[in-house]
Amino acid sequence: MRILTTISEVRAACRGARSPGECLGFVPTMGALHDGHLSLVRAAKASCGIVAASIFVNPTQFGPNEDLAKYPRSFERDCELLEREAVDLLFAPSVEEMYPQGAVTWVTVEELSGKLDGRSRPGHFRGVTTVVAMLCQIVEPDAAFFGQKDAAQVAIVRRMVRDLHMPIEIVACPIVRQADGLAMSSRNSYLDAQQRKQALVLYRSLTRVSELFNRGERNAARLIAAARKEFAAESSVRLDYFEIVNPENLDAVEDVSRGALVAVAAYVDTTRLIDNILLVPR
Ligand code: AMP
Repeated sequence: MRILTTISEVRAACRGARSPGECLGFVPTMGALHDGHLSLVRAAKASCGIVAASIFVNPTQFGPNEDLAKYPRSFERDCELLEREAVDLLFAPSVEEMYPQGAVTWVTVEELSGKLDGRSRPGHFRGVTTVVAMLCQIVEPDAAFFGQKDAAQVAIVRRMVRDLHMPIEIVACPIVRQADGLAMSSRNSYLDAQQRKQALVLYRSLTRVSELFNRGERNAARLIAAARKEFAAESSVRLDYFEIVNPENLDAVEDVSRGALVAVAAYVDTTRLIDNILLVPR
């Protein structure tokens, strides 16, 4: 695996690596890799002849009181993991490389960026879309792989690619969970053993909604009320939002007959966790 840190090297390497008819797959990450990230790499390897990944803890997607400074970093181990998955190229730029002095240009997906996490984290999705647009301009992939774990991010990146006519297929991969249901996340490393148990309420609330849906409940308000009960019983965890929305435009839905995205965010102490499920009518 080639590890490159400058934009010019990556651009040249990606252009040079490509032979006609071969697909270049791209997996953007912030590092501290786990099996969720690796599932994206494996999906990219399965459908693309060349796979590039990036590790960049993007400062512009963190709010002023968020965890940028303490975000977990494990670069050497990440490199070993990516090497083991036979990734061809890793782009690991510095902040200065990505944001040169005086950079004032943003990519913003209006409306959607103010929903779900965007409501609780103002500016977050503007940071995400700006960096994803930059990375895609540099790597020029045919397909980019994202986790359904960040469902709003998938919807927003899809919209950006569509609106800006970027010739990239966005592939969403299923959420990878621990055996007990907790969605894998780099932020799980902030949790101690007790908080780790408390965090299971996110998955429990989603499972409850899924059970009720499978039994025929189609009213979003009643599904949300049942999920909120689960949170009421786990008072150590502070619910940020529990919403049922259209997975494409992220607007709230009242009736889930045609399917919906059920998304939750909650704080376990100071650690903010998110999770979601898709309700799919049979
Ligand atoms: P991050 O490093 O948190 O920015 O995540 C990089 C990519 O990995 C994003 O597309 C995430 O949605 C995806 N990802 C993170 N956790 C998981 C997971 N548990 N299952 C599937 N994909 C994930």
